[in-house]
Amino acid sequence: MNLATQIRLPELKNVSPEQIVATARQSGVVGAGGAGFPTYVKLQSKAEIFLVNAAECEPMLKVDQQLMVTEAQALIQGLRYGMQATGAKEGIIALKEKYRQAIATLTPLLPENVRLHILPDVYPAGDEVITIWLATGRRVPPAQLPITIGVVVNNVQSLINLAKAIDEQHPVTHRTLTINGAIQRPMTLSVPLGTKISELIEYAGGCTVANPAFINGGPMMGKYLADIDTPVTKTTGGILVFPDDHLLIKRRLRSNEQILAMAKTVCEQCRLCTDLCPRHLIGHELSPHLLVKSMGYKQFAKPSTLLSALTCSECSVCESYACPVEISPMRINQMLKAELRAANVRYEGEIEPQDPMAEHRMVPISRLISRLNLQPYYQEAPLTELSWTPERVDIPLQQHIGAPSVPVVHTGDQVRVGDCIAEPASDALSVGLHASITGTVTDITNHAITLCRG
Ligand code: SF4
Ligand code: SF4
Repeated sequence: MNLATQIRLPELKNVSPEQIVATARQSGVVGAGGAGFPTYVKLQSKAEIFLVNAAECEPMLKVDQQLMVTEAQALIQGLRYGMQATGAKEGIIALKEKYRQAIATLTPLLPENVRLHILPDVYPAGDEVITIWLATGRRVPPAQLPITIGVVVNNVQSLINLAKAIDEQHPVTHRTLTINGAIQRPMTLSVPLGTKISELIEYAGGCTVANPAFINGGPMMGKYLADIDTPVTKTTGGILVFPDDHLLIKRRLRSNEQILAMAKTVCEQCRLCTDLCPRHLIGHELSPHLLVKSMGYKQFAKPSTLLSALTCSECSVCESYACPVEISPMRINQMLKAELRAANVRYEGEIEPQDPMAEHRMVPISRLISRLNLQPYYQEAPLTELSWTPERVDIPLQQHIGAPSVPVVHTGDQVRVGDCIAEPASDALSVGLHASITGTVTDITNHAITLCRG
């Protein structure tokens, strides 16, 4: 262990793997992106490598790259607790060279068994299957979890939350997110869970276009946001504002019928979508051009081709970058997934050799920004202290995969920030939920607990 580590990093608390798991569950730590997979489940595995996914490769989101500077100690503490829980002997923080301040801050803090891995500035370096491949050379087989090849992956905010839960007994009450695009004051800030997104847009000075439309998340994987009174949850990574005639909005508003009609009539089977599909490149069967073709001739498609739709990561490379005629293989895969999951079937194919061109076919971020016409809306969004508390928050009982949390408060109860308001559902995949503002419980429904200040 180097001297800098001895000086700067606090001692790890004397906690057993079981206590780390229990604290993560009770404190409400979940994956900060995607569906919010409860972190405690990952911490129950036994792993060789504990990987921090700090790629943040969605253009316009600026959360992890800034938190790695301001919360560097907590990140490494969280990683060490993760390694302690899983027994991992090696820790890796995978990030990009352009996050220079983060690299400079983290480097002197690294314990001997933790290293930085510098990722190329490509998309989707942050798809965990691709992050693992780039950082370790290991390939996750299709439809399998990273733990099958000895790796556990967590993101930056989850590990900071884990460290705070263990070291400071501070549960998850806030979410750090970026507000960017056609907005007066683009910013990245930590906000109480349950805050209305519309209030944050107002806090950031409002929109700069007369016809705003909104995306919850990044430009590639984010979802169209129809109702901006939606509350912030543990998985709200960013709010992006664009004019409603921007291509990112128009694509998201296409109906399934339009997508299918285009697939059946316009596809020229050039297979560019397959040649650039990251999962295909690392050796998964998934071949989006065949799935598009199968829309016209489903009865003749190979069963495993159809089932391979289940292994699509929905990274959007095929829709947003590859296809020259605006077809969306990703949306077709989403439709197929819904059908296949309803039929309760699984994909069981093996991993194949990776494409010899794989490393050269990931999409440079600069090209993506240009292709998606993001330049007019791309802002730095610096980390900003929130100098305001919402009057009211509506905290959803389900912000994670699994069973909703179970309320333990009653209407009229007074709560303080950090008080438990809902317990994990017993004998189920579930986590605890905590007050994000100090105030009174004013309403409890099957879906949410409402708190008002005072
Ligand atoms: S969204 Fe398209 S490019 Fe991405 S994994 Fe799925 S099929 Fe491949
Ligand atoms: S890139 Fe577009 S046109 Fe080419 S095969 Fe894929 S869906 Fe068809």
